[in-house]
Amino acid sequence: AHETTKQSIGATASGFALVIVDIPARALSEPFAYGVPTTLKGVVSIGTCVLVPFGNRPAAGYVVELGQSLQELTGTEGLDPGRVRFISAALSDPVFSHTAPAAAQWMSQEYAAPLAECLRLFLPPGGTPRLRKDLDGSWQLVPPAIEPKQERWVYLTDHGREFEPRANAARQRQLISALACGPVTTRELRLLCPDMTSAIRSLERQGVVSVEERRAWRGNAAGTTSLSSASAQRPDQLTQGQLQALAAIDRAYEAGAGDVVLIDGVTGSGKTEVYLSAIEKVVAHGKTACVLVPEISLTAQTVGRFRSRFGEAVAVFHSRLSAGERLDQWDMVGEGRARVVVGARSALFCPMRNLGLIIIDEEHEQSYKQRSSPRYHARELAAKLAQLSGCPLVLGSATPSAEAMARSAQGEFGGVSWQRTQMLERPSGAVLPRVRIVDLRREFARGGRSIFSGALRQALLDVADRKEKAIILHNRRGFAPFLLCRECGCVPTCRHCSTALTYHEHNHSLVCHTCGETFRVRPYPAPGSACPRCKSRYLAKMGLGTQQVEHALRELLPADVEIIRMDADTTRGKDGHRRVLEAFDDAHTAVLLGTQMIAKGLDFPEVTMVGVINADYSLHMPDFRAQERTFDLLEQVAGRAGRAGGSSEVIIQTYRPDDPVIRAVAAHDRELYSEPDLAQRKEARYPPYVRLANIVAQARNPRAARACLERYMAILCRELAHTSAALAPKPGGEVEILGPNPCAIERAHDLYRYHILVKFPLTAPVPQALSRSAALSAPDRSVRLTVDVDAYDL
Ligand code: ADP
Ligand code: ZN
Ligand code: ZN
Repeated sequence: AHETTKQSIGATASGFALVIVDIPARALSEPFAYGVPTTLKGVVSIGTCVLVPFGNRPAAGYVVELGQSLQELTGTEGLDPGRVRFISAALSDPVFSHTAPAAAQWMSQEYAAPLAECLRLFLPPGGTPRLRKDLDGSWQLVPPAIEPKQERWVYLTDHGREFEPRANAARQRQLISALACGPVTTRELRLLCPDMTSAIRSLERQGVVSVEERRAWRGNAAGTTSLSSASAQRPDQLTQGQLQALAAIDRAYEAGAGDVVLIDGVTGSGKTEVYLSAIEKVVAHGKTACVLVPEISLTAQTVGRFRSRFGEAVAVFHSRLSAGERLDQWDMVGEGRARVVVGARSALFCPMRNLGLIIIDEEHEQSYKQRSSPRYHARELAAKLAQLSGCPLVLGSATPSAEAMARSAQGEFGGVSWQRTQMLERPSGAVLPRVRIVDLRREFARGGRSIFSGALRQALLDVADRKEKAIILHNRRGFAPFLLCRECGCVPTCRHCSTALTYHEHNHSLVCHTCGETFRVRPYPAPGSACPRCKSRYLAKMGLGTQQVEHALRELLPADVEIIRMDADTTRGKDGHRRVLEAFDDAHTAVLLGTQMIAKGLDFPEVTMVGVINADYSLHMPDFRAQERTFDLLEQVAGRAGRAGGSSEVIIQTYRPDDPVIRAVAAHDRELYSEPDLAQRKEARYPPYVRLANIVAQARNPRAARACLERYMAILCRELAHTSAALAPKPGGEVEILGPNPCAIERAHDLYRYHILVKFPLTAPVPQALSRSAALSAPDRSVRLTVDVDAYDL
């Protein structure tokens, strides 16, 4: 108490701070109030990592709010300012932006996740300074686990530029000529010539060169690509649609309220060009722009396009960065060196200063939903951040999500304006490809047994003739090869999961794609193969692997056509995607064969034909979004054709030519499927008209999982009734609870999985009740309970 009084004398004037204390027991949950001593006035701001007294120990923490009076800050009266303890020191510059605390708070509420988990996402990779107790009982400050890296740069001094080395000093000559165009790192010099060290030292003594330590910015080359067709050039003139979109963004920028602009632009209509122009303006105003792209596009062309326009000012975040690279990209943003951030959804967490624009490309992508806690959706978080920063959020897609369409139809959502702007044409006269539907039932009736229908085969041969390029989509999901017993009809499934095992031909193994377990087999007609159930020898291979399609292409096409496969196997490693795409770009005549990853954002002007082996797979998925997902995939992959103008064609093979989704793709007319689909969702109360939470319980014992959910439901009903009478679950009520039922994959990793679905109105405070109920139902350790709000995988 004596200490407090002494400190408070010099310190009352500078106000107070709420600090989240970073010690395990407190788990970053609730903030505590501290005084800001005058010595730290102006040094401490939101996001500063500070040292504070906590109980009888010191602790590190983060400032999440500042205020002049204690009462204003804590919202409670009666706190005695004289008794508040003081921040002892500032340990860093702000580690997160001033919007982070509010965004984390919002995430925690909306997605039923602990606040600590949410706030942690905003902390730098490698962490912040921590305190550690030494053996002698004293507290030591430990720096973050990952540290910046220094590099030594050698450069010519003014004197050095005039300097003429002696004729026999070959090393010195070599060194000086290497430095003629600017500073070079010692590491690079060593690559040039292994024993440069003494030459550097000697020239340094003579004042010819100077050596300087500078921070290395790792990760800056990652994700760049030198694809020749990546369009770096700024077009001479923007299209009408592009100008309209830019005007809408301008208005949202001026409004400064976090308004949303949805660019609904057909594939190849020049959306990326709109992003680039909008970013140029924002950067010219001294602000930062953040662009989210689906993970898969990041290693490919998009980054190249941004780099060629904005050069060094671009920071890139993707999952294949090393920890050091991630830290350096993060700090480039924090220090204001990078003014454009391009990344997957996690880029939203980096410390962007003065945020002026957020863009989400391919807004409909499901990968924007995080699949582990906190299970946030990047689109919703971006909307929140835009609102907190007063900057526009731009969503772009050729196949906007049902959510974005519904909100822009309404013109307003979550208190901000949502506006849709359309771009219906491709620039410079390029037209959307013609789509041909091949009815596989007729093909079969005519005796066609090949992977390729007559039409697709001919189209492929034509591409080869014309020396152009083609893309073939073979969507493996639901199509993976499996073994089937011809006698008893059984399909081998995993011992730990309820999934069918996938057959891998090259090493005759059966692999569980849920848990990875592998079995060796010898399929029919190899001797000795046997059905696990009836021991029959007739195990036949069903389904179709990408490799098999590759073989069929090889047989069909002349040898000068390159066949490039793009799937999980060929794109491993840091540069996997880039290597494959560069090979396709470099090739003269080629077919790119791939899984759904090829549908996303590729821009290869020479592609004149796109083929889809079988369009139907995802129509049968037990998911209310099955139609939307299938349409997105087909429309996107079709959009890879004919981007440079000229005639182009898409051939879609299907057993369901009359399905509204297939007809919509054929006509490039989304509404053919979306109108009935949305009407159906409205009727059945599905998103985007309500929100949907999926609560899953997993346990080795199926009864334990079910019991846990039943307890949860009882508590949830009580909590909801407590929140408001309108939310109390009852027949025909606003909140609907379905289940418990087994999950679509009923068993995985030896755990049985059950779930309940909760449907609730868009703005009801149900997520809080969901998370409170999870805490209150306190499942024992044998049951794992997860709450997924706005769930995608049901
Ligand atoms: P999207 O992002 O909508 O798929 P892109 O921005 O990739 O479309 O544009 C498709 C192609 O059209 C690119 O090669 C791009 O360079 C080109 N392009 C974009 N805008 C224009 C324009 N105004 N004039 C001419 N070409 C353009
Ligand atoms: Zn059998
Ligand atoms: Zn398994």
